[in-house]
Amino acid sequence: MTVRVRFAPSPTGMFHVGGARSALQNWIYAKQQGGVFVLRIEDTDAARNRPEWTEGILSALDWIGIERGGYEGPYFQSQNAGEHRAAAQRLHEAGRAYYCDCTREDVQARTGSQYQGYDGYHRDRGLGPGEGRALRFRTPDEGVTVVVDLVRGEPTFENKLIEDFVIARGDGSPVFLLANVVDDMTMGITHVIRAEEHLPNTPKQQLLWDALGVKPPIWAHVPVVVNEKRQKLSKRRDKVALEAYKDEGYLAGAMRNYLMLLGWAPSGDREIVPWSVIEDEFRLDEVNPSPAFFDEKKLRAFNGEYIRALGVDEFVAACQPWLTGTDTIAPPPWQPEEFDAEAFAAVAPLAQTRIAVLSEIVPNVDFLFLASPLIDEAAWAKAMKEGAADLLDAAIAAFEALATWDAESLKSTLEAVGAERGLKLGKAQAPVRVAVTGRTVGLPLFESLEVLGRERTLTRLRAARVRLP
Ligand code: GLU
Repeated sequence: MTVRVRFAPSPTGMFHVGGARSALQNWIYAKQQGGVFVLRIEDTDAARNRPEWTEGILSALDWIGIERGGYEGPYFQSQNAGEHRAAAQRLHEAGRAYYCDCTREDVQARTGSQYQGYDGYHRDRGLGPGEGRALRFRTPDEGVTVVVDLVRGEPTFENKLIEDFVIARGDGSPVFLLANVVDDMTMGITHVIRAEEHLPNTPKQQLLWDALGVKPPIWAHVPVVVNEKRQKLSKRRDKVALEAYKDEGYLAGAMRNYLMLLGWAPSGDREIVPWSVIEDEFRLDEVNPSPAFFDEKKLRAFNGEYIRALGVDEFVAACQPWLTGTDTIAPPPWQPEEFDAEAFAAVAPLAQTRIAVLSEIVPNVDFLFLASPLIDEAAWAKAMKEGAADLLDAAIAAFEALATWDAESLKSTLEAVGAERGLKLGKAQAPVRVAVTGRTVGLPLFESLEVLGRERTLTRLRAARVRLP
């Protein structure tokens, strides 16, 4: 039997990190089993679907390594609508489903409770099809439905607790539960690996498989992804869009490594590992079923490690989108013609060890390309205290006199200027740094001044001095 798995996102919004995690797990499982990964876009909710979201899913998958051409599809659920209706019909003809025209209020009036599910009123009333009549599945009165789940063992559901659920709406359109099953069936899916939130659907879906006479798949419900408050990640509250992480400068390698650690870890206390190790070692049945905490701080730290592991040239190339701007990344504050690739290459190795996400490159290097630095006024107030004017005067004079403009000479010069005023280097540096870069933190100062050059450095120091009393 060839293993066939599928990833079946609904294009109803930005592509979610939890979805990316499930996609990767499917992808690896298929690869390990010599199987096939199928991509199916579940686009039947016409009111909420948008084509750009489908495109967003495809490109986000591409980005994390699930590349177009490497999988079967994408298929679109809407194209299978005929099959969905035919299955509903078959279930009706076989007596496994019946029509019902009860409203919620009708059921409530009969059961006396708004919480109780459907009471089976129309089970044996023989209502025919018609506008406004939903088709309900006749669930077995007894017995249990045992789901074989690679992550959760064998969750068992009592059939009598499963209501006669709707499989096609009053307008004849099949609901998600049925469409999803029929698609999995037509696509020959053997393993359904998906998020835990679908577990309550599973006994119903398995009953549909049985009723349609096809052996159900093996299931794997992977843990829900939660924030630091243990709340399920939500797009209204949390940063969940894979695209947002990409645009902030997370590397695909770091992201997919981190995503695979949600509920699982490679052997031997390792977390940051080559992708090939994850592909070898990942086991669905080792996935911890408890909710998995999406720890953005940890992801940042991971990303920093991945950035540091790049070759300098790779790092320079990886920074490009932030140095120029793209469709989705804001342009930097300098004009394109102000950018100096040589100066950037000179400071790139210094930046590489200091930033955690690639977008942070911009505030670290903008002083090199702007005609004058963007002064952060809070930084200015902090650095330009009493004595700053005198220090700047002395630094300007000493720098003007320098025979060679290099980091080492700059450093020893400022050290001496500071020492004459009883200041340690750190204190002496602060006004100079703010005058030249506009900020209190940044790349190593003296290397920065070397790259910025004598004239521009002195101009900035003089400009800052003029601002001081
Ligand atoms: N379209 C469903 C979703 O995005 C997926 C259902 C499934 O994986 O079975 O939640």
